Formats: sequence, structure tokens, C-alpha cells
Amino acid sequence: MIPYGRQSINEADIAAVEAVLRSDFLTQGPAIEQFEKAVADYTGAKYALAVSNATIGLHIACLAAGLKLGDLLWSSPVTFVASANCGLYCGATVDFVDAEPQTGAMSVEALREKIEATQKAGKALPKVIIPVHLMGQPCAMEEIRTLADSIGAIVIEDAAHAIGATYGKQKTGSCQFSDMTVFSFHPVKIITTGEGGMVLTNREELYKSLVMLRSHGITRKAEWMENPAIAQEEPWVYEQLLLGFNARMTDIQAALGNSQLSRIEEFIARRRQLAQCYDEKLASLSSNGDDAYLELPGRRQNTDSAWHLYTIRLKPHLWSKRAEVFKSLQAAGIGVNVHYIPVHTQPYYQKLGFKSGDFPKAEAYYAGAISLPLYYGLSDSEQEFIVDTLIKTLHG
Ligand SMILES: *Cc1c(COP(=O)(O)O)cnc(C)c1O
Repeated sequence: MIPYGRQSINEADIAAVEAVLRSDFLTQGPAIEQFEKAVADYTGAKYALAVSNATIGLHIACLAAGLKLGDLLWSSPVTFVASANCGLYCGATVDFVDAEPQTGAMSVEALREKIEATQKAGKALPKVIIPVHLMGQPCAMEEIRTLADSIGAIVIEDAAHAIGATYGKQKTGSCQFSDMTVFSFHPVKIITTGEGGMVLTNREELYKSLVMLRSHGITRKAEWMENPAIAQEEPWVYEQLLLGFNARMTDIQAALGNSQLSRIEEFIARRRQLAQCYDEKLASLSSNGDDAYLELPGRRQNTDSAWHLYTIRLKPHLWSKRAEVFKSLQAAGIGVNVHYIPVHTQPYYQKLGFKSGDFPKAEAYYAGAISLPLYYGLSDSEQEFIVDTLIKTLHG
């Protein structure tokens, strides 16, 4: 079976992990700081905080933003459930902004309209907005930032797919147009630490909250304490100032992350090459208007995707055949996947009051979506086999 995504681990990655296993610190040691500094340098962000996974990264980012019971968070419907659950963890209410038809990302138009409609109705506006860089392609961040600023909302980028992407001249993670950015290092993502994530920010006060939230809400830094004088006399003193978690990454993971980060340009270059190849080889299936079979991933100007995913969308006349196409690709040994079932259509969210039809563009994006295998180690001949099988399947 050709999987839809897969990590690439080389001897240097293994040696980096082994070195930590032979060292004094398996957690809370120097590999964490090295990895954080490396990601901060790579992205241009001022502060980087390694965490045990992106889900808890999003959760503590929301808490650092001050999100709480009675507040509102707006996320994107075409995403993994974690991009919305983070609001619910904080006791906030979650709502969604409909998608751009060509990319599945949060639509700037829909965001503007939703803000206007909310203001007109005199209803509450969101405290936090979470755009998701679907497939690794950065959202229209400058426009989203401007709209968020007009209502005083905090912007958290869910960049689980997008380490290595660029927006304008800046790398995703620079937080040029956001308050915080969250990466995931799950094995299917661009670089991996097994499980793991990173929260980036340029704002010192947010970083301070994030540091404490990662480790039980505790600080040992005298300058952060409520009673710093005690720390002088009683050097064992720590203060719990917030209700935090254990969201720490281990040094074993950080060492792997460091080693993986040194390979990122190679990873991204291959992913871009494979995506370009899919574009070229599938072009004939996407031309010819109405009787075309599918649409290729939409590209946003001024961005360079990290290409976590390559999601094609069957044209509406083939939506009823998607399951058939999916199953025959699977039967041929091709690990296709679907990204994503719109979050608001999940049973849990339906019980919160959402209905099918609430976000029609997101649902239309989903109705034809099939993600083809895309990862660093995918060979040219495997890709050729995937394309040939897809073409045969669609031609029936
Ligand atoms: C993978 C993913 C997450 C969660 O990442 P974990 O590190 O597995 O917790 C969040 N958002 C999106 C869009 C993802 O794809």
C-alpha cells in the first residue's frame, strides 16, 4: 500500500535521538531549547515554545489569548476537529467562517460578511479567529489580520500543515499577521517528532503565559512571581499563577525535530516537485469546463505552499461516484484520504446546534475531495502509478 503520507527518518535522525538517550536529560534539557531556537530562527518569530502536540498548542494559545467561558471563537469548517475543539476546551462558543471554493481555506469575503452581519444584529464578536493553512498553503493573512483588527480579535494561525510555507517574503510562523502560530510535528506532517508541536509568537506577554501553561501554570522565575522577594530567601520556591497542564515535549522528540528541521528544505523541495508533477499530469482531467472530471488545488498569489496535502476535487457531476473512485484507488493499493469532513457536520457539533447546509461552500469543497499520496519518499514511479490508476478509474 502506498500511504497518503509518511515520515522520512534517516541515520542522522536516529543518531540525534540516540545521543539524547545517552545524555543526562530526557526531558526539560538542552535539546528543547535548541529546537525552539532553531524553529524561531527558521521562521523569524521572536519566541517559540515546543509542546507535546499541536492540539494542546492550540488549546494553550487560546488560553493565552484570554479565551474563556462566554467568549466566541471563529474557526474554519474544512479542517481537522482540533482547530475548533481548542475553543470548546476553554469553555468558549465555537462558530465557523465559510470556505473559499477553490482552496477550502477561510474565505476573506465570508469573514467580512459575517463580521458585518454580526455587528448589524448587535451580537457578540469573536475574541479569537483561527485561519487554517489547508494543505500547507497560507491563508490570505494580511486581509484576515485587517478584519480581525477592526474588531479587536486575536489571530491564531493553525499552521499544522504549513511549516516551510511562505507568505509574501516571510516564512509561515513569523507571526507577521497573527498573534500566534501553531505547528504540528505528527509523522504525516512536514517534519516530525513522533508527536509534537510548536507555538510561535512575537508578543512577550503571550509567550510568558504559554511558558507557564505548558508546565502546570508554574514559574520558577523570580521576575514573574507575585512574591519575588521570597525567591531570594527560599531558592526552592515556585509559584503557580495559572491553571496549566503538562504539555511538554521530551528532549528525545526535540532532538529528532532538530535533525528533521535541518532537512526541511529538501523535504519541501520534493513535495513541491511532486505537486507540480500532479498538476501537469492531471491537467487534462481538469480542463474542458463542464465535462471535466476534477479540479486541482487552487493556488493563492504571493504564497508558496509547503504541500502537506494534494487534494483534488471531483466535479459536482461525479460527487455521487466519489466513494466508488476512492474504493477503487484503495483496492489498487493507493492510500487515498479525504481532507476534511467539515467540522460542523460531526455528530458532536450537530448536537451543539450546527446543521448540514450551514456552510455550503465548505460542504461543496468536501463533497468532491480526495487527497492523493504526497510525501518526501514518494517515488516518481509510484506517482506515475497513482496518476495512471486515477485516470483509468475516472475514464471508467
Ligand atoms: C494534525 C492537525 C492538528 C493537530 O495536530 P497534532 O499535533 O496531531 O495534535 C491540528 N490542526 C490541523 C489542521 C491538523 O492537520
